[in-house]
Amino acid sequence: MRNILCLFAFLWASAPLIAQGSQESTTANENIYASPKLVVGIVVDQMRYDYITRFWPRYGNDGFKKLIREGYHLKNNHFNYVPTYTGPGHTSVYTGAAPETHGIISNNWFNKFEGASVYCAGDPNVEPVGTTSSAGQMSPHRMLTTSVADENRLHTQMRGKTIGVALKDRGSILPAGHTANGAYWFHGRDEGRWITSSFYMKELPKWVQDFNNSDKAESYMKIWNTLYDIKTYVESGSDENTYEGGFSGKEKATFPYDLKKLGEKNGGFDIIKSTPYGNNLTTDFALAAIDGEGLGKDEITDFLTVSYSSPDYVGHNFGVNSVEVQDTYLRLDQELARLIKALNEKVGEGNYTLFLTADHGGVHVPAYLESKKIPSGYFIDNEFEAALGEFVAKEFGTKDAILNISNDQIFFDYQVLADKDINAEELEEAIAHFALQYDKINMTFTRTQLEGTTFSSGMAELIDHGFHQKRSGDVIFVLDPSVISYSPTGSTHGSGQNYDTHAPLIFYGNGIKKGSSLERTEIVDIAPTISALLGIPFPNGSTGRPLEMVIEK
Ligand code: ZN
Ligand code: ZN
Ligand code: ZN
Repeated sequence: MRNILCLFAFLWASAPLIAQGSQESTTANENIYASPKLVVGIVVDQMRYDYITRFWPRYGNDGFKKLIREGYHLKNNHFNYVPTYTGPGHTSVYTGAAPETHGIISNNWFNKFEGASVYCAGDPNVEPVGTTSSAGQMSPHRMLTTSVADENRLHTQMRGKTIGVALKDRGSILPAGHTANGAYWFHGRDEGRWITSSFYMKELPKWVQDFNNSDKAESYMKIWNTLYDIKTYVESGSDENTYEGGFSGKEKATFPYDLKKLGEKNGGFDIIKSTPYGNNLTTDFALAAIDGEGLGKDEITDFLTVSYSSPDYVGHNFGVNSVEVQDTYLRLDQELARLIKALNEKVGEGNYTLFLTADHGGVHVPAYLESKKIPSGYFIDNEFEAALGEFVAKEFGTKDAILNISNDQIFFDYQVLADKDINAEELEEAIAHFALQYDKINMTFTRTQLEGTTFSSGMAELIDHGFHQKRSGDVIFVLDPSVISYSPTGSTHGSGQNYDTHAPLIFYGNGIKKGSSLERTEIVDIAPTISALLGIPFPNGSTGRPLEMVIEK
């Protein structure tokens, strides 16, 4: 990039000599788009919108509050599809498309063409780099569309860099896209290292090796206690309750947690992921990436995609209403402050554009909701599968007509349908009818319906946007609100209800107006907004709209 800079410097210095009307030529060349040196995308895994409002009085001035006060806050931002999982979430943020287009229909899904379950970022054709573990066999090859970072790479003749960072492989790989210079994720166990795959490079760069050789990961194997006096955590339930999972080797899910001791029975270094220190480690590594890769050092826009994965692990373990979740967010607020301060020092205040959102929300623990008389509950997949198998065997003469049930989708075996002369549409209808009689199933949609209709409102629209004609199943069912297929402790996500779709969205920095809005926006609007801001092409499958209200010019 230095050559380009020299060229600019030369043209600038010689401008009066070669252009007579230099004022005119300056005006003509003035950039009509924002020109940040760096775009920083932040996804907080499992962050509900109300974590901004519930913990607002407890946040400091330099984290969430700074972004909201000095940036643009979209308060009514939603996912526009089901299922609201991590893989589809990260992909949709950066591609501006829903699963119907980008093809990441879940974290894991049944691939009818391979006859097996596949993982959204799994890639057996690449080699691990930085480890020998198969945890390194990952790439974005299942993502069918470009991310906004890919478009920036193409637009700048590959001069603008992209680096992806997250504890979770999918949180790093899918945002960074197909053309990333590097995407890094954390491998715990007894290694505690940041790794990548041969999709990106042959060996880890020196700055990553140096980071891995430092004692950073080790330094977080310490006591996790609340940041402030636990008695002040009045925005959450009590620390001890029956709705939390906790760690193996500790009887109660209560503070303090001795991570060094608990690590033995909880995946070694992997225990860091399930605590707020995973966010600290992520910030440490993101800052090392800025230095190591020289991000934001010249006039050509670079991308740093950072995902904070730990809030999701903590939410799954302890639930939306826990002190553990609150403490994780109060500490994350401090990490954001540290990141912003470092960006101001390294890239310069006003020289970068930042956005912050989530990959999905999370549901209150149903057992807790039940205790408050709110309709909710648990759906037992195995029981439904057995009942459905019996029904299909009785009505159609074989239960083999059903090949797989996963992600609330029922996949048919079309070979069996052909052999037994079973009409697919009749089978769809019969199963949909059966499922609707089944306890805790709220709605059903069939392939025939979804292919023949465009739904434009409510749950039907969300199902429609999550339905990939080639990859999805043949009958899709929707559970009752606040009913989950999960353990009786902790929270999860995946539905089209507001607790899962309503996600924070904040834009901040270069080219961004100050303000806030309650207008409904969608997660697929983020990528086209960044494209419009930079004046680069929209990601190829993007269906969102640029959010004009946030853009300065
Ligand atoms: Zn997630
Ligand atoms: Zn607790
Ligand atoms: Zn999750």
